[in-house]
Amino acid sequence: MNKGNCLCGAVEITLNYLPEKIGACHCATCRKINGGGVQLGIHGDADLKAKGTENIQRYTSSDWAERGFCKICGTTLFYHLTVGSMDYIYSAGLFPEQTFIITEEIFVESKPAHIGFLSDTSRKKTAQQVG
Ligand SMILES: [Zn+2]
Ligand SMILES: [Zn+2]
Repeated sequence: MNKGNCLCGAVEITLNYLPEKIGACHCATCRKINGGGVQLGIHGDADLKAKGTENIQRYTSSDWAERGFCKICGTTLFYHLTVGSMDYIYSAGLFPEQTFIITEEIFVESKPAHIGFLSDTSRKKTAQQVG
């Protein structure tokens, strides 16, 4: 299924397809916005296909990105670039099928020692914060 939703169901996101491979971000902003964990993201394009958009609260987290979450239940929905590609990166946890393979990690220099994945990933340090 390529449809995902927040905890309360007020927001539903539809992807063109559900990819097998996803990425993980260990930056401090993602950790905060998730309340203590890594952000597992599905890279989408600039076109947000969602029901219940009136329930989406957007928060400008940097000069180049915003975060979206459900106004009712607080579920983190996406990271959205507000410059350049304007792509949306969706929270992997929104989707019922959890058969993903984590193939890339970014901001590994910010990764707490207690977080690690079983799969082999490409690990990247990045100088610029994701925001
Ligand atoms: Zn909700
Ligand atoms: Zn991040």
